[in-house]
Order: sequence, then structure tokens, then C-alpha cells
Amino acid sequence: MRHIYLDYAATTPTRPEAIEAMQPYFFELSGNPSAAHSFGQRSKAPVGPAHRNASLLLGCAGDEVFFTASGTESNNTVIKGVADAGRNRGNHIICSSVEHSAVLEPCRYLAQRGYDISFLPVDGTGRIDPDEVRKAITGKTILISIMHANNETGTIQPIQEIGRIAREYTVPFHTDAVQSFGHIPLNVDEMNLDYLSVSAHKCYGPKGIGALYMRKGSPFTPLLHGGGQERGRRSGTHNIPGIAGFAKAMELASAEMESNAAFFSRLRKRLISALSERCNDITINGDEKYMLQHIVSVTLKNVNNQELLTELDKEGIYISRGAACGASRDAPSHVLLAMGMSPEKANSTVRLSLGKWNTGEEIDEAAEVLAKVADRLRKH
Ligand code: PLP
Repeated sequence: MRHIYLDYAATTPTRPEAIEAMQPYFFELSGNPSAAHSFGQRSKAPVGPAHRNASLLLGCAGDEVFFTASGTESNNTVIKGVADAGRNRGNHIICSSVEHSAVLEPCRYLAQRGYDISFLPVDGTGRIDPDEVRKAITGKTILISIMHANNETGTIQPIQEIGRIAREYTVPFHTDAVQSFGHIPLNVDEMNLDYLSVSAHKCYGPKGIGALYMRKGSPFTPLLHGGGQERGRRSGTHNIPGIAGFAKAMELASAEMESNAAFFSRLRKRLISALSERCNDITINGDEKYMLQHIVSVTLKNVNNQELLTELDKEGIYISRGAACGASRDAPSHVLLAMGMSPEKANSTVRLSLGKWNTGEEIDEAAEVLAKVADRLRKH
């Protein structure tokens, strides 16, 4: 049976080198890293390298990063933590209308508790105009949270410019970099960031481990209180196997970033030209100048995306409608609607996301099958 996985933006497999790095920490070195005895202390070995590897990918100090259980937890930690710490200064938070639910939902939660949230619009390519951020800032703004790259379209936001505005008004600035981390260069100083969320399972590390960068001195209340791990910023026994796997994935992401960029740019071009040659009435969404190379959002006119997904699944080809978390919902994507697409077009849009184990032949085959299935399903 054919198996062509084109949903790497939903999750990546854990790379074998990361699995190998995790192995010792399930049994031989399975002490509690917070224990005083040497068996516990020995199990702590991956924590230092993990902080260091994250700092190298972000251009920050190792102790400005702490580990969480997911990108969702990192986002919740910043949004609720800054809202709590800043409640005497104000109650206004700015985010975009195309954020992942891991940002939108904590913001909606805060809205029900008296916070005022601005959900900024985007243009037809999914980008925010930094001037919209400037216009939205008030004396009560305590946080700006704008994602780095969108999980449905791959669109990269003008983070550096938005960060400059945030600095000008001394408003703390967070970005959800879950999709871009480990894929493209990031630097928290150049991007003018105070907080940045990441997740291991989007860059070939294991699931259930994330991290949060927090600039020294930034306002913050921890989400989890308890044993005071990670310098009190995130209590809970360290997920040592996860941290070991993430450390290895980050080390290799740094080493391979340049060659991967060239690989994905070639694969993306091949996918887009294979689709354009074989499919009628398609649009590739977003602006090519500002795109993650491994995510392709395609609208196939008059083809229902759920039906397309189901039929491709039967053919052993795995793609998605958009965010994995919203996959069971029939509602059109909030990201595509925010870009000005009609609900019908949004429901005719799919995401194909590429990974390091895809081959050019797979891409051609997937495009061929997708075109045939789409023609069969197309409602005229
Ligand atoms: N933010 C973005 C942009 C994502 O794409 C995802 C995952 O799909 C998340 C946050 C949530 O990350 P996690 O799955 O680690 O909770």
C-alpha cells in the first residue's frame, strides 16, 4: 500500500538520532533529576545541552529558555502569565486573527474575565500590516502576541517591524514560532522579542515537549506552581527523555538548516509545478516572498476539502484541511476567512506540508493522484 505523508506541519516523526538520545533515560538513567542523590543527578545530563542548543537557535542565553510540555503550554504560559503579572498596568492584549487556537483560546478565556483583546486583521496573503499594531496600542496594552509563521498557509509575519513598534511603546512582545523554529533562522534580539514559543514535534523531536524563551526581567507569573523546577518558571518533574530527544533534534536542526532550506525550496517548486500542470483551477495561497518553504496551501475550485482528504486517505496520501486540532470541524478555516476568502473557497483549500523524508518522486505521484481525485470530486 502506498504511504505518502504530506502533513509534516501537523507533526513530524521523531528522528532516529533523537530516539537514540532518549533511550537511556527511560530505564538506566531514570532517576528524578531533582533528587539529591547521584543517580538522580546523572539523569539531569541532557538539560544543560538542551538549554544551550535552544539558545543557539534563538540567539539568547541558555537560562532564558525553559521547557514545557508543548507549544500549547508555552503559549498559555505567556498569555495568562503576562496578563496576570500586568493586571495592575492594564488589561489590553493584541493578537492577530490568524493565530493558532493555542493563542486564540487563552485570549478568549481572558476576554471572558474582563480583558480586552484586539484580533488584528490580515491582508489577502495572510500578513499583518505593522501599522495596524501601532494603531491598536493603547495606554492599557500589556502584551502583543503575533505568530511568526502560520501553520495553515506558511505565511511569515513582519515580526522584526512589529517588534520595533512594541519596543517603541515598551509593550512586551511574544511570538508563537512553533512552525518556524528549527526550520529558518531566528534571533530574538533582531526580532525584538520578549517571549517565543516552540514545540519539539514540529522539528523532528518527540511529542509532549516544548519550550519558552523569556527575556530576562520580563513580566511573568508561572502557569504551574509546585516543585520550582526550571528556576521556578515551570514546576513539574523534567521530562528528561523528551528533553534529551529535543536537544538532539535542535542540534541537528542547526547543523542542517542551510541544506534543508535548499532541499525544501526545490521540493516546494516541484510540488507547485506538478500541481499546476495537472490540476485545473487551482490557486496557491500566500505571497511567495514570505513563506515557509515546507508548507503549501492550495485552493482547488469547487472541490470539497473534506471529501478530497477522505479519498486521498484511501489512496495512502495524507494531507490536511488546516490545523490538525480543528480537523474534525466542518467550519471553514478562520485563517482563510481572515484572508478574505469566501467560506466555499476556504472549504476547497488543503494544506500539503513537506518533510525531510519526502522525495521528488513522491511529490509527483501525490500531485498526479490528487489531480485525478479532485477532477472526480469537482462540482461544476
Ligand atoms: N502553535 C502553532 C502555530 C502550531 O502549529 C501548533 C501545533 O499545531 C501549536 C501552537 C501547538 O503546539 P503543540 O502541538 O506542541 O501543543
